[in-house]
Amino acid sequence: MLLWLKLRRKKILAMIPRTFEALFANSIPDAINFLQQHKGEAKILAGGHSLIPLMKLRLVSPAYVVDINNIAELSYVKEEDGHILIGGLTRHVAVETSELLKMKLPILPETAFVIGDPQVRNLGTMAGLLAHADPSGDYGAVMLALEAEFIIVGPGGKRSIKATEFFVDLFTTKLEDDELLTEVRLPLQPPRSGGVYLKLERKVGDFAIVGVAAQLTLDDNNICKSVGIGLTAVGSTPLKAVLAEKALIGQELDDEHIKIAADKASTEANPTSDLRGSQEYKREMVRVFVKRALTKAKSNALGK
Ligand SMILES: Cc1cc2nc3c(=O)[nH]c(=O)nc-3n(C[C@H](O)[C@H](O)[C@H](O)COP(=O)(O)OP(=O)(O)OC[C@H]3O[C@@H](n4cnc5c(N)ncnc54)[C@H](O)[C@@H]3O)c2cc1C
Repeated sequence: MLLWLKLRRKKILAMIPRTFEALFANSIPDAINFLQQHKGEAKILAGGHSLIPLMKLRLVSPAYVVDINNIAELSYVKEEDGHILIGGLTRHVAVETSELLKMKLPILPETAFVIGDPQVRNLGTMAGLLAHADPSGDYGAVMLALEAEFIIVGPGGKRSIKATEFFVDLFTTKLEDDELLTEVRLPLQPPRSGGVYLKLERKVGDFAIVGVAAQLTLDDNNICKSVGIGLTAVGSTPLKAVLAEKALIGQELDDEHIKIAADKASTEANPTSDLRGSQEYKREMVRVFVKRALTKAKSNALGK
């Protein structure tokens, strides 16, 4: 009762954010100007599905919110120079329903489909999810498996960073306070490639207990030429299971090698016990889901 009264006094139970000023950016330079003017005090608002809950809980209280929803030029999914390019305001629903992605990188629409529910997918954005850097976010593992590159714009101009270098720690990335993630670049996959994202969740729409992304390419003799394996919710960032990947390169993807890779991935995972399961359970689920993901990715590569 005492705690309730204290929280109530602090208005935390009311779920009302602290006062802030909303700034509406109409272009990328506009957004950068606002961020630069109020560096350290401003936050970008995209879909708001992660930022607004944090503000309501007063875990984050920016003095300025830079709304980028008017920057139409940041919403796109297109193919260019052997890459798929996804703009920094592209919503989950656009990824989920993109015919180009269904044809060229089906792992992405499949992943978007298991994010939250339709309300979340209608507003939430890929770049917002990546910038938020929740290790339970579903795209992180896929970005690592696909060896994505992120384009970032700030006061000093444009730079690019690999997904493998982007995630630093829990909710922390290499983005500076005055930078905008403007584009995600994904290499197109050669023939005989297949990918899949598998998510274990308590119920539909929940965050992952464990998620596994696998993307691989086979040669004409069905030997594994390249493979990327990303893990969701089993570390302070999305994880790339590099030892598991190494164990598969140059090998036939038979049950034995898939088992070796799954065992390695489960040792690379670093989960913590929480409401969704114990450390041991999650590690075991990594083993099971990596096995399933590799088997499915292989059959996708073979067009079965
Ligand atoms: C009920 C519910 C269920 C959910 N379920 C899932 C789920 O199953 N799986 C999952 O992965 N996610 C889930 N989410 C999170 C959801 O996917 C969010 O949409 C996403 O994490 C954040 O995207 P956003 O566009 O809403 O970003 P916002 O909330 O607007 O912003 C998030 C953070 O990113 C920053 N930011 C936003 N855009 C950019 C940019 N272009 N450049 C730099 N920084 C930027 C913001 O300043 C903020 O710090 C869920 C959310 C809710 C509310």
